[in-house]
Amino acid sequence: MADFEIKDLRASVEGRQILKGVSLAISKGEVHAVMGPNGSGKSTLSHTLMGHPGYTVDGGSVIFKGQNVLELEPDERARLGLGRSFQDARLWPWLRVKEAISVGAERFVEVLGAIVAMFQIPSVVESEAEVAARTETLIELLGLNAFRDKFVAELSTGSRRIVEIAAILAHRPSVLLLDEPSSGIAQRESENLGPLLRQVQTHLGCSMLVIEHDMTLITGLADELMAMDRGQVIARGAPDEVLRHPYVVESYLGTAAGEIHLTNGKGGRRQKGRPARANAR
Ligand code: ADP
Ligand code: MG
Repeated sequence: MADFEIKDLRASVEGRQILKGVSLAISKGEVHAVMGPNGSGKSTLSHTLMGHPGYTVDGGSVIFKGQNVLELEPDERARLGLGRSFQDARLWPWLRVKEAISVGAERFVEVLGAIVAMFQIPSVVESEAEVAARTETLIELLGLNAFRDKFVAELSTGSRRIVEIAAILAHRPSVLLLDEPSSGIAQRESENLGPLLRQVQTHLGCSMLVIEHDMTLITGLADELMAMDRGQVIARGAPDEVLRHPYVVESYLGTAAGEIHLTNGKGGRRQKGRPARANAR
């Protein structure tokens, strides 16, 4: 059964319909990638899922933990376990790396604390020691040890991106939404990102929805790939298959079929050999 299911989502921005019926189901622990040309509605999908102001839902549902998250306030969505990054990293440059991560963890503790107080649940609130332990785990898992005492402002864009992901993970999301995690970072850093995110998935067990244009990253990370164009799904399936889909080749890459070159050859781990399905044209 799907852990997170988007059904026929339609959304508009400034009165213009951008998402024209997007459906997507993510099973628990699955990494699902979304690709598509600029302006095809990928970020709009992410903003709409998080309830960003200005993104109006016109129809459809998003079922997560038995609730339609479209009916929840943005902070309720986050509390339910949706965590997300923005296409442009937004972190606190004046914090040290370890502080930036523990701020993420502490904020989660505060919110939990308020809920516990409200319902008078016997305290399950984490102590400072637990927050510190979680921060350490994330520093370790994401290979940030060398940067722990550096200011966020001192880091390269790529390292800052990883700190940002760590700060989101400190909230313990069960579905992690990443909008173009490789954008603006160096090739070498982007190559590390796929294996790193896979490691995060393995250790923390969260499902992921990753919007990405880097083909190598997608094929190395995603279990399933959905291609969008003009607010619609044009193909979905195993990454290798989707990248060979004629409509994807034509609309996204603008090259003749067969010219797509993947630097890692066969790509994709955990390929399920499922054929790509064309959904709409
Ligand atoms: P992608 O992330 O796939 O590049 P976006 O979702 O950012 O695409 O944009 C899809 C379309 O929606 C574009 O035509 C864009 O101009 C429009 N759009 C998205 N966000 C806004 C916004 N905040 N204000 C106005 N138009 C927007
Ligand atoms: Mg975008």
